[in-house]
Amino acid sequence: MGSARAIVVGGGVSGLSSAIRLLERGIAVEVWTRELPARTTSSVAGAIWYPYKVAPRERVAGWARATYAALLPLARDPASGVSLCRGVELLPRGLPDEAADFRAAASDVRALHPELLPDGFDHGFELSVPVVEMPIYLEWLLARLRSLGGELVVRALDSLAPALDAAPLVVHCSGLGARELVGDRELRAIRGQLVRVERGAVERFTLDDYDPRGVTYVIPRSKDCILGGSADDGREDLIPSEATTRAILERCAALEPRLAAARVLSVSVGLRPARSAVRLERETPRPGSTLIHNYGHGGAGVTLSWGCAHEVATLATLE
Ligand SMILES: Cc1cc2nc3c(=O)[nH]c(=O)nc-3n(C[C@H](O)[C@H](O)[C@H](O)COP(=O)(O)OP(=O)(O)OC[C@H]3O[C@@H](n4cnc5c(N)ncnc54)[C@H](O)[C@@H]3O)c2cc1C
Repeated sequence: MGSARAIVVGGGVSGLSSAIRLLERGIAVEVWTRELPARTTSSVAGAIWYPYKVAPRERVAGWARATYAALLPLARDPASGVSLCRGVELLPRGLPDEAADFRAAASDVRALHPELLPDGFDHGFELSVPVVEMPIYLEWLLARLRSLGGELVVRALDSLAPALDAAPLVVHCSGLGARELVGDRELRAIRGQLVRVERGAVERFTLDDYDPRGVTYVIPRSKDCILGGSADDGREDLIPSEATTRAILERCAALEPRLAAARVLSVSVGLRPARSAVRLERETPRPGSTLIHNYGHGGAGVTLSWGCAHEVATLATLE
């Protein structure tokens, strides 16, 4: 393994971001991954900055805030796949606003006058948040990793032992893979389906996290538009459901009528790695070895990526 002092297991957004923060602190890193970044769950994500299906709130808010701040400058570089998108978050009548602490991290937040809201909503906010085109962004992260001297090695593991044998520091970012790698029985999949359509004239995102039929969102990207979504707890098949596609198209067109005739380009499915709480902690599995876990980010792995990576790097450099 050459001169690497750390092995990061996992080449999704959590692993690549963690590896970059370690390299920036002068720690040589190899990333070991079963799949190339383009084949990970991270590559499927929408991906809008917004904490969803993730806990605990008090840690999530800090990680989300730090990630928002880290993504902002990337939005000035078109090659990164990150952009700052203005849009609307809707809250239905009679429900408490549970996202106020998260929203506080966003820029230019403005409460919308009820007259400007669609039927059924009595709260709404206009705000600007990062939207991340994951296929482009993962390539950008990989290029950044390599420019700092890091390497990515395709290697499937049955346990963390080979990584612990190879380097004194191991950062474990295997997402749902932690079920096999460390026997984490608390980790479960929340299946999500997305529909990619022509962007047409859509320029603003719309998000309704509370629709009882399923979370509903419209995320315009540079050349297309991502429509969501679904959240099937414990379901693990990766075959798109036609009924879910129809339901997503119908709910999104109700929020954004310009989508009514939008052509479907593709449909994708991914499994969110969910847990009662993100596992981000340090342990000493053997004398002289440090192991840091960073997985279980549910529907918010992109939203929390830089905040968690920063904490990994801080834990790694603790004496
Ligand atoms: C439909 C959908 C929409 C989403 N939308 C958003 C969104 O808008 N915003 C947001 O923030 N998040 C979103 N998410 C959630 C986000 O995708 C995840 O939280 C995030 O991708 C988790 O990243 P990760 O790097 O921890 O895991 P992963 O991307 O799953 O990466 C895990 C890595 O570990 C490797 N690995 C696993 N097992 C092994 C093994 N045995 N040996 C070696 N390597 C192994 C894999 O190959 C992979 O490289 C969405 C998810 C889905 C499914």
